[in-house]
Amino acid sequence: MSALTSKVEAVFNEPACGVNQGKSDKERKKGCAKQLTPGAAAGGCAFDGAKIALQPIVDVAHLVHGPIACEGNSWDNRHAASSGPKLYRTGFTTDIGDLDVVYGGEKRLFRAIREIIEKYDPPAVFVYQTCVTAMIGDDIEAVCKAAAAKFGKPVIPVNAPGFAGSKNLGNKLGGEALLDYVVGTEEPEFSTPYDINIYGEYNLAGELWQVKPLFDALGIRVLANISGDARYSDVARSHRAKAAMMVCSKALINIARKMEERYGIPYFEGSFYGISDTSESLRNIAKLLVQQGAPEELLARTEALIAREEARAWARIEPYRARLSGKRVLLITGGVKSWSVVSALQEIGIEVMGTSTKKSTKEDKARIKEIMGDESHMFDDLPPREMYRILKNSEADIMLSGGRSQFVALKAKTPWMDINQERHHAYAGYEGMVELMKQIDLLLYNPIWEQVRRPAPWERDNEGLDMRSEGGC
Ligand code: SF4
Repeated sequence: MSALTSKVEAVFNEPACGVNQGKSDKERKKGCAKQLTPGAAAGGCAFDGAKIALQPIVDVAHLVHGPIACEGNSWDNRHAASSGPKLYRTGFTTDIGDLDVVYGGEKRLFRAIREIIEKYDPPAVFVYQTCVTAMIGDDIEAVCKAAAAKFGKPVIPVNAPGFAGSKNLGNKLGGEALLDYVVGTEEPEFSTPYDINIYGEYNLAGELWQVKPLFDALGIRVLANISGDARYSDVARSHRAKAAMMVCSKALINIARKMEERYGIPYFEGSFYGISDTSESLRNIAKLLVQQGAPEELLARTEALIAREEARAWARIEPYRARLSGKRVLLITGGVKSWSVVSALQEIGIEVMGTSTKKSTKEDKARIKEIMGDESHMFDDLPPREMYRILKNSEADIMLSGGRSQFVALKAKTPWMDINQERHHAYAGYEGMVELMKQIDLLLYNPIWEQVRRPAPWERDNEGLDMRSEGGC
């Protein structure tokens, strides 16, 4: 059995994943996500998933071993922000061609690693396997090992070629690379009883920076955030954390479980979307740290901070309450956001008329049911035509989704807000909740909607009356 096959099987066997454990052996072998239709880019491949999970480590060079399109496909498609190094935003690829396919691309890969180290001297180079180089049999593990020995630097193989499966599987394979080659290879200069790890927070649009001041105020040190705004050394030293929070259940559950198993770091799953969820997460972190030996006074300090911050956030949200309360939102997103954003919106009286659950786990769906009362507002698959009908008939006042469905909303002349990974505004923590309300308010009350909904001059009759008939999608 190849190393990749056994790794994929191990990931599918994840004991901490309730969905996997509920399956038969045969079902589990098939994997946890539907296989992609060849040629259909929607959803991303395993390589894409691994890159998404690891690229936010900002000071390392991310080298893609494959044809140039793989890197072109994945480069910088998210706004994972950095507080310092910018090397992670440089696209490195071996750009293999026909001759490499015939003769093998290992030498070319070795030369590319050398060039990067000579020109940029990063703390580490991450090498990503892709479909073509995996199929011609390039052994990236062996090349990385030889390069690490030759140049005296960590060169980390990330063996997640696209054909291995979905983006979700790729996230986990990226996590496996960290567990196999990075975590535990360095020691922190000092340890405190307040050291934590966060898994699955990618610092999109700077969301980590909205919650980090809360930890700073409590004296809690984020030893490693895996992987938003992380440095290589943070991840290498992360095994010394005392407790951990897992932000996105699907992405890096294997890291959370194995860090607990290997290094005794307990974790819980939480969310920083919404006021009460943020407070709950802070409480859980404090509780776990106290369980692990931190002084008990941390609990009281956490409660005091929560009370202060909640009051401050509600005071800032208050002006929006009257304007937003009762507005109806159609939410098309996935995973943890499908429930955490629902509860965040409901807190201020916004009605969620529907939320998509296509990319949600069984646990996510159970949370939505708990928050919304029943399943009637859950859409497993909402085709664009139906989405358009809902918006056109004004059953929702605004749609929150990813960029791909924005044009459905715009065609229906309905406000649309980007809630997915390409978003430019950060919505985490108390600060993020205020920002979320501000952005929804700006969009809903933008005067452009009144203007675009008016009939165009050629759509009026001689008396100026609207001659438009209702059209379909
Ligand atoms: S790794 Fe494979 S599936 Fe992914 S972008 Fe490259 S060729 Fe396409």
